[in-house]
Amino acid sequence: MREFRLFINGEYCDAASGETYDSVNPATGEVVARIAKAGPEDVARACEAAQAAFDGEWGAMTSKDRSAILGRAAEILRSRLEEFALLETLDVGKPLTEARNIDVPVAATYLEWYADVTDAAVGETIQIPNAGQVDFSLYQPYGVVGAIAPWNFPLFLGTLKIGPALAMGNSVVLKPASITSMTTCLVCECFAQAGLPPGALSVVTGPGGVVGEVLVTDPRVRKVFFTGSTEVGRRVIELSARNITVTSMELGGKSPNIIFADADFDQAVAGAVFGLLLNNGQNCIAGTRLLVERSLYEDLCAAVAAKLASLKIGDPLDEATQLGAIVSQEQFDKVMGYIEIGREEGATVACGGKVPEGEAFSRGWFIEPTLFTDATNDMQVAREEIFGPVLVAIPFEDEEEAVRLANDTPYGLGSGVFTTDADRVQRMVRALDSGTVYVNTYNQVYPQSPFPGWKQSGTGVERGMHGLLENVRYKNVIMDVSGESIGWFG
Ligand code: NAP
Repeated sequence: MREFRLFINGEYCDAASGETYDSVNPATGEVVARIAKAGPEDVARACEAAQAAFDGEWGAMTSKDRSAILGRAAEILRSRLEEFALLETLDVGKPLTEARNIDVPVAATYLEWYADVTDAAVGETIQIPNAGQVDFSLYQPYGVVGAIAPWNFPLFLGTLKIGPALAMGNSVVLKPASITSMTTCLVCECFAQAGLPPGALSVVTGPGGVVGEVLVTDPRVRKVFFTGSTEVGRRVIELSARNITVTSMELGGKSPNIIFADADFDQAVAGAVFGLLLNNGQNCIAGTRLLVERSLYEDLCAAVAAKLASLKIGDPLDEATQLGAIVSQEQFDKVMGYIEIGREEGATVACGGKVPEGEAFSRGWFIEPTLFTDATNDMQVAREEIFGPVLVAIPFEDEEEAVRLANDTPYGLGSGVFTTDADRVQRMVRALDSGTVYVNTYNQVYPQSPFPGWKQSGTGVERGMHGLLENVRYKNVIMDVSGESIGWFG
């Protein structure tokens, strides 16, 4: 059985307590690895090493040196693509093809982009009404940043925190989700081989209630990047008040995917299905509320149901599999619980709604992709984040109602709009209350594209130049060039 240990001060080590926990393959229920279970002492050691790296060799490096290290780490990660993809599949239950074609290459692409922008934080000169003084700004790293990641895209979301933080010269202590820690532990090897000085990156695995809370409240941590549920995010924000630590939060969603009757039909069906099912619906921005113009509702729902029913669900290691397993027993129970709630609320299960039949599904946690029709936006299944392969289709009469329903949610992460009317596009992208809007597409990710969460989906921005600048502090400098002394008026 594989073992994954903490990575602190440039080397792998056991937890101070010697404790470990098991990592389970969601497709079989079998234990596949043993993971070190960090405690407060380990987090403190990681923060101490991070501070020392920032005060020492790492903090003294030029942006060019940092760029070279990030570039080399990306290259090493790409060269180990198959190994990382397999581990991600065994940990998360996603199809190997998805891990190979999306998770690992996207993580490497992000690191490459961060390697390109290490010197992009350019300050400004400010016009002041005094010719004897100059005013300019500097962007400077925070020092030690703490990062906490969720379980759905461990490698990608982990590198999304490591990359920009290192690019801007911070050192990072990262806590991955307990149930999917393996690739985050392993990626440290890539950085070490790439020449990252000890302490600039540490990974501490263990329960969020201990490791996460100690990390957020460590006085050396000046900024926290958190991705996860709105509920835990709220707790992290509360904890951040203790040391007035700055936070950047990427939280949950219940995103509307809006289909107008003038949409290209095939494009809309594909958008509804892929918009939901990337990573088996375990995706923060998944388009889980399908809002469909009434005249198209029946036909579109029928086509979506047919497409969902045709997808191949099964062994994630099988190259033909399109949908793998649900990440854990707990998540399986949660999703099945919501399917039951939807039935009780009076929505119709148009397809799916149960565990697939067959011997292959007697182990592990699998759920058929599920479409609820005859649903309304006030149902619990339309209001709460299910985080699984469940789509709730709601009809609307006109554009005004579509906007009202789309925005009637506490979340504001993403929205999709399918239409061929260019004027409508302009109205909709302005009216929708979310940080991202996709038009005639869904689930696209680029390192250059900012990813802000609105409302209870988060604060701050990840990715893109806006996201990069979340990793630096702004400083203003006023400097005398006149040689005159200052004093009291008169
Ligand atoms: P979660 O339960 O909120 O956990 C996220 C992370 O927080 C995990 O590493 C967890 O550790 C840790 N944690 C738990 N309790 C903590 C505490 N008291 N203090 C500090 N850290 C704590 O979320 P999840 O179930 O892993 O992920 C799914 C959620 O993430 C969904 O809501 C999804 O929408 C959201 N998400 C958002 C984005 C985005 O970009 N907006 C992207 C992906 C996912 P343990 O694993 O040890 O519990």
